[in-house]
Amino acid sequence: MSNAIRPLAAGNWKMNGVTASLAEIKAIAEAAATEAGGADVLICPPATLISAARAAAGGKIAIGGQDCHAKPSGAHTGDISAEQLKDAGASHVIVGHSERRADHGESDEAVRAKAEAALRAGLTAIVCVGETHLQREAGQTLTVVGRQLSGSLPHGATAQNLVVAYEPVWAIGTGLTPTPADVAEVHGFIRHELVDLMPGEGAKVRILYGGSVKPSNAAELMAVGNVNGALVGGASLTAKDFMGIASVYK
Ligand code: PEP
Repeated sequence: MSNAIRPLAAGNWKMNGVTASLAEIKAIAEAAATEAGGADVLICPPATLISAARAAAGGKIAIGGQDCHAKPSGAHTGDISAEQLKDAGASHVIVGHSERRADHGESDEAVRAKAEAALRAGLTAIVCVGETHLQREAGQTLTVVGRQLSGSLPHGATAQNLVVAYEPVWAIGTGLTPTPADVAEVHGFIRHELVDLMPGEGAKVRILYGGSVKPSNAAELMAVGNVNGALVGGASLTAKDFMGIASVYK
């Protein structure tokens, strides 16, 4: 069933990128149709660049945010609402990234509220889940991921406005990756949970793998069952590396 799902190659620029970096977005957008025509392509730059990135992308790739506040507006200095991201030109927003869960103490409940805000604003929510190294060593991976899914997924989501990203915390930015068998186990589990939690929709929701995806390992990781694309951090910062990954979907 997952073979029928159109993949998504997504880049998360984190707190990287200034105006000059728009050249990379332009290059990714120019290459997307010919080099990665079998997938949707998305770059999530810092919020300061969303509007300009949208212009640089010229409608050829999607642009997203990296986080949003749960409320639509109000006295929340420094925060950005889903509605504001949408207004700036975003179509997606990442919520519950492990760096936000760790650096800002975001709970599953807070992540769900943000994901529901994304849906309210007409954005697609990319909800991140994943275990720490200690949790994997303790054999708790599926328990942790299951708890994050049931606690963080937005109510009322569809396969059109929800993407799940499995990102083992220990694989992010470390150069380490799970084996394809481990990825298959977790993605198969996530699919099972999605079908259970979202009857009629869960079978069609895209499940991305994220964590040290590079041109050299992308083909192997993207070939795993129930892997419907990638969420890429470091290797999404240059068009050369990112297209080396996205071209798996040529
Ligand atoms: C991420 O932070 O979402 C990520 C996958 O990072 P990296 O690709 O750098 O491991």
